[in-house]
Amino acid sequence: RADDNHHPEELTNKYHVTSHLLGKGGFGKVLLGYKKSDRSVVAIKQLNTQFSTRCSRAIAKTRDIQNEVEVMKKLSHPNIVAIYDCITVAKYSYMVIEYVGGGEFFSKLVDSKYNQMGLGESLGKYFAFQLIDAVLYLHSVGICHRDIKPENILCSNKAERCILKLTDFGMAKNSVNRMKTHCGTPSYCAPEIVANQGVEYTPKVDIWSLGCVLFITFSGYPPFSEEYTDLKMDEQVLTGRLFFHEQWHRITDETQNMIQWMLTVEPLIRPSAVELMSTQWMKCADCLSAKQD
Ligand code: ADP
Ligand code: MG
Repeated sequence: RADDNHHPEELTNKYHVTSHLLGKGGFGKVLLGYKKSDRSVVAIKQLNTQFSTRCSRAIAKTRDIQNEVEVMKKLSHPNIVAIYDCITVAKYSYMVIEYVGGGEFFSKLVDSKYNQMGLGESLGKYFAFQLIDAVLYLHSVGICHRDIKPENILCSNKAERCILKLTDFGMAKNSVNRMKTHCGTPSYCAPEIVANQGVEYTPKVDIWSLGCVLFITFSGYPPFSEEYTDLKMDEQVLTGRLFFHEQWHRITDETQNMIQWMLTVEPLIRPSAVELMSTQWMKCADCLSAKQD
């Protein structure tokens, strides 16, 4: 039986699946595994094809695993998690993907060594370059991620200057199709999605989410949170009002302006990944070293 502990032969013939849990998301769990032919380490994302336990307000009731796999197969970039294989048996699908061993970027952001002050200008830009490069590539091949957040960004290892890898293409969509679905995670969700479920939006929604991630990266606190004001999350996002507290004193004006630009409520004024990458801001030593790594 293909249940939580008994994996089907179709999978175990090729892969050894350990019980080491790498992480859990809304739709299933990710286990550490090995490819039997060469003993290489892989991550195995197990998804229940029949129902989702997701309780966020995403309206997708059944996950389109086929779409997630198809999207990942199209992609090849150093800052995007690769897929090797996908095996579906009975009600489970097993995505065999690149193992990324340094944990979630989320854990790095909340690491006590940064004293809730953010990662600082130099390290922040090192990571900003990698994430903008990943999104630039994604958009160039017509894919919109739609759920960029620190939990869906993985660190290559425990080193401070690690390589970041964007993952979780469960919400991704080919942007030549009309995008209307209300999806994403409230604190990272673009205002045009929050504003109206019936109106089409563009890949600029990823730039907004990335702006939220980078805001936290540089300052240590999120741009929108119900913890500091009485305004509901949706209202905060719709107004797009940002508060630059003392954590920003050690960050350059140039960087602060870039983050503010990414968090422009009007999507037409918000920069594309191409525009971001062509700025002087992205031509720094930290960015060049990210490219070489
Ligand atoms: P979901 O779609 O359910 O959110 P994710 O793909 O985001 O699933 O995976 C859930 C969690 O599992 C991630 O947040 C991360 O902690 C862990 N994880 C996912 N993929 C990998 C991987 N390739 N290597 C290591 N850990 C991973
Ligand atoms: Mg996820």
